[in-house]
Amino acid sequence: MGFSTDAIHAGQSPDPTTGAVMVPIYQTSTYVQEGLGKNKGYEYARTQNPTREALERNVAVLEKGKHGICFSSGLGAIHTLLLCLREGDHVLLGDNLYGGTYRMLDKVMRPLGMQFDVVSTKDVAQVDKAIRPNTRLFILETPTNPVMMIADLEATGRVCRAKDVILAVDNTFMTPYFQNPLELGARVVIHSTTKYLNGHSDMVGGVVVTSDADLAARLRFLQNAVGAVPGPMDCWLALRGIKTLALRMRQHDANAHAVAHFLEEQGRKVIYPGLASHPQHELARRQMRGMGGMVSVDLGSIEEAKRVLPRFRIFSLAESLGGVESLVSHPATMTHASVPLEERRRVGLTDGLIRFSVGCEDPEDLIEDIRQALA
Ligand SMILES: *Cc1c(COP(=O)(O)O)cnc(C)c1O
Repeated sequence: MGFSTDAIHAGQSPDPTTGAVMVPIYQTSTYVQEGLGKNKGYEYARTQNPTREALERNVAVLEKGKHGICFSSGLGAIHTLLLCLREGDHVLLGDNLYGGTYRMLDKVMRPLGMQFDVVSTKDVAQVDKAIRPNTRLFILETPTNPVMMIADLEATGRVCRAKDVILAVDNTFMTPYFQNPLELGARVVIHSTTKYLNGHSDMVGGVVVTSDADLAARLRFLQNAVGAVPGPMDCWLALRGIKTLALRMRQHDANAHAVAHFLEEQGRKVIYPGLASHPQHELARRQMRGMGGMVSVDLGSIEEAKRVLPRFRIFSLAESLGGVESLVSHPATMTHASVPLEERRRVGLTDGLIRFSVGCEDPEDLIEDIRQALA
């Protein structure tokens, strides 16, 4: 099936009781049992919920994986993945990762005995060198947030497979509409469904997708044993959002291209993988089917960022991304404040950098808003 057909139908069938076309919100904590050990496959809602299962099947299909396991947030998904490892195991993190992922390793997992290093995702030889005998997992994002570095997923996947390291790609920025990491060499895909998959900024959730049966079984066990499960209403919202994922992503991509070209014409320092001026533009074109809706621009100083940010009328100053409405943020003080200054400097996350999550409004209005804010 094509992407849009799968997005609308995969994993969902009319409700067996009533024929309801939409998967119902099974808002229940428990299920009646006919007798001891006799039930319909549902016992308690932390363990099983039909609305959640529909979302898990749907995202697994879109990401070309066999198993989807949903969580209460993107970080809940990443935490549960880390719990598949043990004390003393070593994790590699891509540089310029989502601040919360870095914070989890630094402030939560390291005190529990997990080791980690940060490595540049631009250079596969460096990744190879950074892998230790006890390295079990490499978590990366591509493009990264907010400096839009691209990792060569095929080359990185080869290096990780050769050394039996699980490559986990956080695909929140691209979504399966533009990039399928499992087909390029990753063993695991992670999403914050909070962002583009849901797309309407009205829930928080996460998902892990893999075709590795052993890993999926462990994650399924931990989903229940640790309990960071999403509620049925949030799963239903994500399911509904995904039905229009293809339409939305096409508009995000077109609008982001328009915004990026406008900023470049104004002589601004723009970072967008869709621009020929992006140092990894060719790699981006090779492994992505589109460039997404995130655009960063370096205004030169924190003073200029402070002057410009309150002036927007359509772009709202807010954390998060991926909704139909346009947002603007200041990564150094907002999403990436927990990343140490030296680390931010090293990847080019300057204090003057602002990041647009370009929404689905009319592109002329977005460009006019940026023009008047920068004036
Ligand atoms: C938002 C985000 C996360 C964390 O997801 P939550 O749903 O907020 O817990 C992880 N990775 C990326 C790339 C994100 O943008």
